[in-house]
Amino acid sequence: MKSLRTIALKEAQNRVSPEVTAPSTKISDFFGSNVFDKKKMKDFLTKEVYEKLISTIGQGELLNQEDANQIASAMKTWAMAKGVTHYTHWFQPLTGSTAEKHDSFFEPSSEGAIEKFAGSALVQQEPDASSFPNGGIRNTFEARGYTAWDPSSPAFIMESKAGKTLCIPTVFVSYTGEALDFKAPLLKAVAALDKAAVDVCQYFDKGITKVNASLGIEQEYFLVDLSLFNARPDLALTGRTLFGHMSAKGQQLEDHYFGSIPERVFAYMVDFENEALKLGIPLKTRHNEVAPSQFECAPIYEEINLAIDHNQLLMDVMEKVARRHNFKVLLHEKPYAGVNGSGKHNNWSLITDTGKNLLAPGKTPKNNLMFLTFFVNTIKAVCEHADLLRASITSVSNDHRLGANEAPPAIISIFLGQQLDEILDEIEHSRISKKTKEENGLWLGIPKVPQILLDNTDRNRTSPFAFTGNKFELRAVGSSANSSAPMTVLNAIVADQLVKFKVDVDKLIKKGDKKDVALLTVIKKYIKESKNIRFEGNGYSQEWADEAAKRGLSNIKTTPKALDALVSEKTTELFTKTNIFSQRELHARHEILLENFYKKLQIEARVMGEVTHSQILPAAIAYQNTLIENAKGLKELGLSKEAIATPLAIINQLSKHIGEIKTNIDAMLAQRKVINNIEDTRDKAIGYDEKVKVYFDTIRYHTDKLEQIVDDSLWPLPKFRELLFLK
Ligand code: ADP
Ligand code: MG
Repeated sequence: MKSLRTIALKEAQNRVSPEVTAPSTKISDFFGSNVFDKKKMKDFLTKEVYEKLISTIGQGELLNQEDANQIASAMKTWAMAKGVTHYTHWFQPLTGSTAEKHDSFFEPSSEGAIEKFAGSALVQQEPDASSFPNGGIRNTFEARGYTAWDPSSPAFIMESKAGKTLCIPTVFVSYTGEALDFKAPLLKAVAALDKAAVDVCQYFDKGITKVNASLGIEQEYFLVDLSLFNARPDLALTGRTLFGHMSAKGQQLEDHYFGSIPERVFAYMVDFENEALKLGIPLKTRHNEVAPSQFECAPIYEEINLAIDHNQLLMDVMEKVARRHNFKVLLHEKPYAGVNGSGKHNNWSLITDTGKNLLAPGKTPKNNLMFLTFFVNTIKAVCEHADLLRASITSVSNDHRLGANEAPPAIISIFLGQQLDEILDEIEHSRISKKTKEENGLWLGIPKVPQILLDNTDRNRTSPFAFTGNKFELRAVGSSANSSAPMTVLNAIVADQLVKFKVDVDKLIKKGDKKDVALLTVIKKYIKESKNIRFEGNGYSQEWADEAAKRGLSNIKTTPKALDALVSEKTTELFTKTNIFSQRELHARHEILLENFYKKLQIEARVMGEVTHSQILPAAIAYQNTLIENAKGLKELGLSKEAIATPLAIINQLSKHIGEIKTNIDAMLAQRKVINNIEDTRDKAIGYDEKVKVYFDTIRYHTDKLEQIVDDSLWPLPKFRELLFLK
């Protein structure tokens, strides 16, 4: 019988890409064609309702029942004309993926069947959601949660061969009002930041009435042939390879990054981009990444809530389209040991309704002061809440990046680039002149901030949080994560910081300082206080780990401990004060994340046991039997001891590794049994991390040794060289 690996290899070699045709050669012709966007709203709604909806989107005002009915009816008309039969509330539960529950427009009635979509169905739905993670917030007897429309993210149509569905982006909350998803807290944090930033903007420009956080999410991913993927139970069940010896050629030649994109991959990229563009996702960039078979795409930045919805939707589209191309897209942070992992860089800035980017250095001294205000407050916020930011990006899969010497380290620091670093130093050590002097570009002694920063600030890839000219880039987010978690934190801590800033500045103004003097005095104070978090050097180096320890910065490498910051006193105060999370919600989230952590390790441990026992050991033993036959044969022929020595040596080697694997798998199983009995979730998670996961490397070491010795034709799992180099 042919092995699955052999069949898969054959299939992978003979792939033909499906025909990919764009709806038009001009992207602008079909961009957003599946979105009920502002233009369509205008076409399908009365002027009055349209304007109300726009102000709802802008100001978060409530819609009345009648208007909701009209909007629902308009959406239905538009959607049905495009062949839609069903609608769903589309939400982001804490599982990490998106969720849908489809209902048909169709309804039987006394006058015959009709298609209906009432305003109430648009605004609210009650999915039976008892099996979504809720961290103890809902007992099953009060299992119902409800989803509520988020009008700031437009409805869209999901197409599939079998039919089309109208998707309505919603928040997901419990009956008692607690958030059960990623979106509800994000919207609250975004609103808090808007208010705090607008208040601070008043020092500079009274015309500013709204500040939006903007976000551009770069998405890294791996592609693997679907048949090869299916022949790897570890990949299929855990998203990463638990075994596999590194291929002789990996990324050492550095020949993949920005190299030419393989034809088959290119077809896939164009195909999913077309789908994404129809959904209004403004994809702009595509390229190879550092590791073989690793790629990246990036959209043009958008308002933060929309950007995150779009990223969630994009991951979904990428997975669906991959199937058409017989690919599997791997969004796991570390699918292959020994090659780079994947992240999701979050590029973040603040943009006013007057069109000003608050994190872009300005031309005039006044603009400089405004830039410095938001720039320094962001640094101060991250400095104050570094542990919380660390907690917001932690997960079992991201531990492979953050804990190891790869990607950004687990120490949160901020990279500014030499020029800005020097400017902050200069302000810190300057004396603030209380007289206004505009000549020589100097004003109150503020150094001039160049508009275009000379050094390529983007090149320090070892920093988890880097300033890149007109935005900050949080690079520590994992490729599979929902960006809402870190972005809720970032917006909340900056909002809180800006509120404190205003209090501090107003105090000085009250004491008689001129406004600009007061602003600069507080900025100077914050620069001093947040100095520790700034680091310009190599974030991967041991020197930095030592230096960071001296500075008192945390370096928490694993999730169960990193998550402590989510329920600390400081965090609870921050979130309850800003009304983003109640204490109960925080504890629920903490519990869910810990559970998620140990359950994933539990699955990995099980898969490891099963694959070694049922696939790897049998292959090794089969090969060993062949060698035994061989040794016996040689002996029968009367050959010398030396001649038999080679098969015997290999037989011995095999025995050693087989024995080690068996011993370690058994020991791991025994540990699991002990740890499964631990009640406390945090202790259980730490138990899995410290007492179970530790066996993984040893078991892998021995299976990878076997992979190198055992007859290739007997080896059951596709090897790294086969998985990583797409034909
Ligand atoms: P790199 O790979 O050099 O980091 P990319 O061009 O791949 O850069 O991605 C940069 C991302 O940052 C894009 O999504 C881009 O739209 C986004 N971006 C640019 N300016 C801003 C901004 N002001 N606010 C938020 N995101 C931004
Ligand atoms: Mg980047």
